[in-house]
Amino acid sequence: MPKLNIIDTHAHLEGEEFAGDFEAMLARAVEAGVSRIITAGTNVESSEKAVALAQKYPQIFAAVGIHPQEIHNAQKADIQKIAELVKNPKVVALGEMGLDFHRSAVYRDEQIKGLKRQLEMASELRLPVIIHNRQSTKEMIEILSEWVNKTQTKTPGVIHCFQENADNAGVFLEMGFYLAFGGYIGYPKSLMAEVIKIVPKTRLLTETDAPYLPPQKFRGQRNEPAYIVYTVERMAEVLGKTKEEVANFTTENACRLFKFQ
Ligand SMILES: [Zn+2]
Ligand SMILES: [Zn+2]
Repeated sequence: MPKLNIIDTHAHLEGEEFAGDFEAMLARAVEAGVSRIITAGTNVESSEKAVALAQKYPQIFAAVGIHPQEIHNAQKADIQKIAELVKNPKVVALGEMGLDFHRSAVYRDEQIKGLKRQLEMASELRLPVIIHNRQSTKEMIEILSEWVNKTQTKTPGVIHCFQENADNAGVFLEMGFYLAFGGYIGYPKSLMAEVIKIVPKTRLLTETDAPYLPPQKFRGQRNEPAYIVYTVERMAEVLGKTKEEVANFTTENACRLFKFQ
């Protein structure tokens, strides 16, 4: 049987979680059919590491940005440093950026300012954005719709780790966003099956968010890109498609959004 061709559109490979078995982890991903991985920075340091990994490995690409939980530590010059990193041709997106009122509600204003600044930068640089949104949907919708209206961008980016209801999915889709789903869609309590069914096939993406959010089978352990097959499997089950079909259309979508050849 031909191998699947899957893209992990969101992982964090630059951390020490993978320092011990990086090459073996990549080999397992290749074996599982993962053709490309986007590793996303969360501050200047991890964005620099993401770019370095992308330069070293042909199948790794980088996203650079400042995560909402890091934004209060960011210096003014950091945004400029992120803009510099974008010059590397293997940087395919800005992110992850966004709002997270779950874990760091105290820095709301800083988060909103940091998100708006990075969105502006994305339109200047003409790159798609990778958005993190946790318990901040109302503000997120306000900020993103204003930005999309102002810039008239047709393919603004992706809402990663999508865990919102179907109504909110509709709002983000209407703005032109892709929605990415990870291993959590197979958790017994996940409500994502109903949401996945309403997303057009041309807007679905797969991701792991490794080393976080492992699939059910590996809960409590480190997640890694090879485990994306469980997400493809679950999506196929929900949509009544084969794994190959899901791998094919999600890969086509990722290639279109991130301009992979
Ligand atoms: Zn995130
Ligand atoms: Zn992430």
